[in-house]
Amino acid sequence: MPYDTDVIVIGAGPAGLIASQTLASSNIAYTLIERSNEPGCDKPCGGFIPASTIKRFEIPAVEGQHEIDTARMKFPRRDLVSIQFEEMLGVNVSRPALGKALLSKIPDQHKTTLLGTTVTKMETSNEMCRVWIQQGEDERVLTAQLIIDASGANPVSQRFVTLRKRIPNTGMGYGLQYHIEMERELGGSNAFLYGNKYSPSGYCWIFPRGRIAIVGTGGLVSRVRENDRRTHEYLDYVLAEVEPFNNELDGGTIIKKDSALMPLCGIIRPSFGKRIMLAGDAAGHCSPISGEGIHYSMAGGYAAAMTAIQCIKGSNFSDDMLSSYEKRWTKDIGSDLKWGLWLQRKLMRPGAGENGGWSSSGFIDSEKSQTTIAEMLMGVRSVRSAILSIAPGYLRSKIGRSWKK
Ligand SMILES: Cc1cc2nc3c(=O)[nH]c(=O)nc-3n(C[C@H](O)[C@H](O)[C@H](O)COP(=O)(O)OP(=O)(O)OC[C@H]3O[C@@H](n4cnc5c(N)ncnc54)[C@H](O)[C@@H]3O)c2cc1C
Repeated sequence: MPYDTDVIVIGAGPAGLIASQTLASSNIAYTLIERSNEPGCDKPCGGFIPASTIKRFEIPAVEGQHEIDTARMKFPRRDLVSIQFEEMLGVNVSRPALGKALLSKIPDQHKTTLLGTTVTKMETSNEMCRVWIQQGEDERVLTAQLIIDASGANPVSQRFVTLRKRIPNTGMGYGLQYHIEMERELGGSNAFLYGNKYSPSGYCWIFPRGRIAIVGTGGLVSRVRENDRRTHEYLDYVLAEVEPFNNELDGGTIIKKDSALMPLCGIIRPSFGKRIMLAGDAAGHCSPISGEGIHYSMAGGYAAAMTAIQCIKGSNFSDDMLSSYEKRWTKDIGSDLKWGLWLQRKLMRPGAGENGGWSSSGFIDSEKSQTTIAEMLMGVRSVRSAILSIAPGYLRSKIGRSWKK
């Protein structure tokens, strides 16, 4: 049966672009459909990419990338700590520049990209997938053997072909950011401020990029909704009163405010079925403890493309065959999602406030454990290895407290 293409990839974020690159390098016919005219131009994001991710996915230099070698962290009732590493930890990038860099890796003869094109409907059957697309006034239907839906936290396919339950507000995160333009270049540190002064049980981040500082805050949607304080008030407070950030960003101009959802739910299943694979945010591929999703989405997009290649080579599109997708990504990133959720529930629960959560966990009591947390946040070590490295101290502190009671 003739199809317009073998695989339709929806969304040119990190997941869809890595999936497309992987399909292109195996000569699989695919069409990448993206509703923006420029990939990444509408995406709110801090834009931090760990050095390990750059290496693994061979990400070329991104225009305007800002190297980071220091993590600054503020935990409740503790002084700000600044941990400088000898090596570069990663880069902060603008999302349109990242989109451009990733797109440039696909050779022109393999580039089948429809930008400014929105998927409006889809159907799948035992025989094929049909996807309705709209580009300006033009509407048409594309047919394919498989769909990789990488269209973000609320995937478009879910409206037409339900694969899994909607992520509840207790598992979905919300982030609000100010983009602040300064007159001078900013330094090489990413800052993370924890505690209920800075966020609704999440954290506040300050990520520099050239002369722009991205200052953001957020938390689980359920907590943002329950909260008396409006989310922007946390950012206004940091800029007005929290040293040294108020001084460092003094005189800056807020040039943009943006916000978006991010899945913070850990592993959600299923991520496949009926000739569709969900990848990236669409599949919950985002760290529940940090909201970092670029790395995890790339891993998800790669796993989906590898599975698509197998399906097409074997002419087998059954759910059984597609199930190897879930095995692939779970093996790769499942541990970070699982343990990230464990940490989120332990450290960022409501009411943890100034006296609970991080400050009483024992996770940040020594310089060594603070360095371990910094390594985890910057993608230098896995979540599980961070927990294992800190656990003895954590257990000691727990035992110590219950002994005193
Ligand atoms: C405020 C905020 C800050 C963040 N900061 C960081 C950070 O510093 N580092 C980090 O690693 N992660 C960060 N994240 C998370 C990260 O941005 C996401 O996890 C990541 O972008 C997910 O990639 P994706 O490819 O799955 O989806 P997306 O990047 O969301 O891409 C989905 C694409 O699909 C397109 N699309 C959607 N619907 C349709 C449709 N119907 N038809 C056609 N195209 C469609 C969209 O236009 C979009 O380009 C942040 C998230 C937020 C909200």
